[in-house]
Amino acid sequence: MSEHDSHTVHRETDIVHGSIPYDAATGAVSVPIYQSATFRHPALHETTGFDYSRGLNPTRSALESAVALLERGRYGLAFSSGMGAISALIKLFSPGDHLIVSADLYGGTWRLFNDYYAKYGLRFSWVDTSDPGSVRSALTPETRCVFIETPSNPMMKVTDIRRMSDLIHSHRPDAYLAVDNTFLTPYFQNPLSLGADFAVHSGTKYLGGHNDALSGFLVHSDGSLEDSLRNIQMSEGASLSPFDAWLVLRGMKTLAVRMDRQSENALKIARWLRGHPKVDSVFYPGFEDHPQHGLSLSQSRGFGGMVSFYLKDPHDAEKMLKSVKLILFAESLGGVETLITYPVEQTHKAIPSELRERSGVNERLMRLSVGIEHADDLIADLDQALF
Ligand SMILES: *Cc1c(COP(=O)(O)O)cnc(C)c1O
Repeated sequence: MSEHDSHTVHRETDIVHGSIPYDAATGAVSVPIYQSATFRHPALHETTGFDYSRGLNPTRSALESAVALLERGRYGLAFSSGMGAISALIKLFSPGDHLIVSADLYGGTWRLFNDYYAKYGLRFSWVDTSDPGSVRSALTPETRCVFIETPSNPMMKVTDIRRMSDLIHSHRPDAYLAVDNTFLTPYFQNPLSLGADFAVHSGTKYLGGHNDALSGFLVHSDGSLEDSLRNIQMSEGASLSPFDAWLVLRGMKTLAVRMDRQSENALKIARWLRGHPKVDSVFYPGFEDHPQHGLSLSQSRGFGGMVSFYLKDPHDAEKMLKSVKLILFAESLGGVETLITYPVEQTHKAIPSELRERSGVNERLMRLSVGIEHADDLIADLDQALF
């Protein structure tokens, strides 16, 4: 924990106890699932604080404050998916506004921005944000936001969060830095403490951690934006359901131990892959010779459980996907089970091939989301699949 944090307990402890450690009414240690769409009013102009679950629900509120606490933000909003959270954030902008976005990022975000929001007059530049010079050259008088993923998906490039914050905030007082913090989670990285205005998450991934529920989060500390964001959430209706909020609350309690094990396993696997004759190169910020290893150490507390690699021969990709036994060939990441993904056909299919190739996503690229199994079993499985 950094000395700047005002909290008095460690991150691991906050993760377990959250902001609401037990139910005040009953003492229940697990936050109850308030499976109610609506709430009775005591009288006209009176409310318990809860009216209708699209706006606020007690189980969702408990999760929202837990995620805000971990991200060191004042406000947290929970959505029915990561895309729901990103879609809410983007509605703070108006036609004519320009956004600079990491070129190498989750394909669904690319599709949402390019296929839908561009139609409503928002303008996007896709930039390698790991190079601050490229971001500076992409700034226009209309630039209102830099939206980054770091480490990026799937090339594991690291963007300097402090540097991006300085760049965008000195550009315009009403411009924001948003960081998709899905890969490292608040356990390893706190964008708001590094100068970002927003941290967004697909809680479907590490926060939930069990591949059983979709969710998304938006965390910030700007009192002047909270009402607008709540209104967007309430108006659009992509609010997280009480049961799914409970699943994420439950999953999140083990975030610290899962992340520690997943990064430990990821480093072992990344090292092993690097020595394999059928593997061309491996992307993992935990390698000392990763181009932004030092930057990673300066802004994060861990390297995470995601590893990408190029095979030498593209024909090995299909063979490998068919041959893995323990490792599951599936889209997604962050759960306790190790998954292997083929970005060119799955997570990044929505991106046009020219832009995709430029960012490094080709038919030789494989992506692993390393789980909490024994590393030796995972390596043995990869070994037999790379026959
Ligand atoms: C999965 C993912 C998303 C989208 O989240 P959903 O919960 O699937 O809607 C956004 N960003 C990143 C980095 C992701 O991995």
